[in-house]
Amino acid sequence: MVVELVQAFGTPAQREEMLEPMIVGEYRVAFGLTEPNHGSDAAHLETRARQEGGDWVLDGAKRFNSWMHSATHDLLFARTSGEPGDGEGITAFLVPTSTPGLEVDHFWWTFNMPTDHAEVSVKGVRVPADAVLGEVGEGLAVAQRFVHSSRIRQAAASVGAAQYCIDEAVAYAKQRHTWGKPLAVNQGIQFPLTELHTDAELLRGLVRRTAWELDRQNQLEVTQMISMANFRANRLACDAADRAMQVHGGMGYTRHLPFEHIYRHHRRYRITEGAEEVQMRKVAAELFGFGGRANA
Ligand SMILES: Cc1cc2nc3c(=O)[nH]c(=O)nc-3n(C[C@H](O)[C@H](O)[C@H](O)COP(=O)(O)OP(=O)(O)OC[C@H]3O[C@@H](n4cnc5c(N)ncnc54)[C@H](O)[C@@H]3O)c2cc1C
Repeated sequence: MVVELVQAFGTPAQREEMLEPMIVGEYRVAFGLTEPNHGSDAAHLETRARQEGGDWVLDGAKRFNSWMHSATHDLLFARTSGEPGDGEGITAFLVPTSTPGLEVDHFWWTFNMPTDHAEVSVKGVRVPADAVLGEVGEGLAVAQRFVHSSRIRQAAASVGAAQYCIDEAVAYAKQRHTWGKPLAVNQGIQFPLTELHTDAELLRGLVRRTAWELDRQNQLEVTQMISMANFRANRLACDAADRAMQVHGGMGYTRHLPFEHIYRHHRRYRITEGAEEVQMRKVAAELFGFGGRANA
């Protein structure tokens, strides 16, 4: 998704330098917005950047900075002006991971597996003026573009994963016998899967329509639709994986079938790219008329 950001916000020189290497995998760019003290309320971030000579110098810390185990660059967000919580005044910087002062302290071990989600310290990280991606002070627009793309991608992936779990559970229920009859004849098996199948159909429609709108409109026009699709699809994937585990009985709980892994993977989506409460907050802001950049 950083390819899309450089395409949309990059200078001609940044596009020339970065686009092709990112596409072929020579450049791998991590995304550093979340901090130890601020996640959902990202506009309150505490990392600061100040100008020194012609350079910028960044100080702060980042949390869950994914992919830092192999990233060549980190897209770091820092406040360059304004007050905590202001939508304006945050700037995005493309920082090579080899820059002195940018250090991975450790990686967090998560629900899914030991992973690459880094705790990063940012101490006197000096970058030239042309490291800024987008306009100075307009980094929140860069971050929003990233999460919008990621949210619809997650939603589509979750609908697909949910449908897979439903289909596998239905197939298993037809061939597994208890008390001499297929599991599938029991309404206790049929009805939960029917509910999930119906939700998958509804969400597939919402995801497709939202993606279609996204291709045609300013992203901010459809931001609440993206949030609706995201939080409901991610929840559906978890519910369908949980149900597939239940229908498969003890085997469903093993790592020899994929459902527990699907559950762990998609459970993450209910927190990252804005937790589901944050998505609901966005929809509610539209519904109740509390909108505005402070709610982004
Ligand atoms: C596996 C993983 C990978 C990640 N990768 C990245 C990455 O690459 N880059 C990056 O920048 N970040 C990344 N993150 C961080 C992620 O974006 C944050 O965890 C997320 O935004 C939530 O922030 P938080 O953890 O600080 O929770 P908090 O903001 O502290 O919120 C805690 C809980 O309270 C809820 N909550 C908060 N405010 C309200 C409210 N007003 N009303 C109701 N409920 C509320 C939240 O929804 C959440 O459930 C990753 C996280 C994980 C777990």
